Amino acid sequence: MSFNVIFFGPPAAGKGTQAKIIETKYGLKQLSTGDMLRAQIAEGTTLGKQAKEIMDAGKLVSDEIVIGMIADNMEKNPQAKGFIFDGFPRTNTQAQALDTMLKERGEKINLVLELQVDDEALLERIKKRAIEEGRSDDTVDAMKVRLEQYRDYSAVVLPYYQAQEAVITIDGMRPVEEVTMQVEAILADDIAA
Ligand code: AMP
Repeated sequence: MSFNVIFFGPPAAGKGTQAKIIETKYGLKQLSTGDMLRAQIAEGTTLGKQAKEIMDAGKLVSDEIVIGMIADNMEKNPQAKGFIFDGFPRTNTQAQALDTMLKERGEKINLVLELQVDDEALLERIKKRAIEEGRSDDTVDAMKVRLEQYRDYSAVVLPYYQAQEAVITIDGMRPVEEVTMQVEAILADDIAA
């Protein structure tokens, strides 16, 4: 039995942080489209060069590119007991493509964990992360666009999963360890079910 979970929420909500903490514990593989794109940029590929400009502006990279990367990485990890999707899907088209890919494997999205953090706290986190990690899209200007893109294209994906009764909302304003404890409690229940 496989188990597939999506970490959903605005930029800097803590999706990547939580995904990395739980991935080894449950034998799940984290698939972060943001990390994949940053790897392409670091390698200096054509795709990376095209993506960098879009990412630095805070806009969304094309559905075709991110869906292709997810498909490749699912194939490359046949040993995984399931996947943690982090930063994907971010549009309705991506959500539908993901469903199709999972259906072909006889799988589905078992759980969507929505991390809720208010905008002010997100901006503060971004300023801190800019100093710590030096990400070129962690600027106040890019962040404003990223939040707009989240509201315009990504937040609308949530009702799609709510209709499947797959969504659990978590208060992402709390300290990392407290959020992890809640995530683990939910996973323990759901994976066992
Ligand atoms: P993240 O690390 O998830 O915050 O992603 C950083 C940037 O990569 C985003 O602001 C987008 O420009 C791009 N990106 C990451 N994932 C996606 C996605 N699923 N769809 C479109 N663009 C994405």
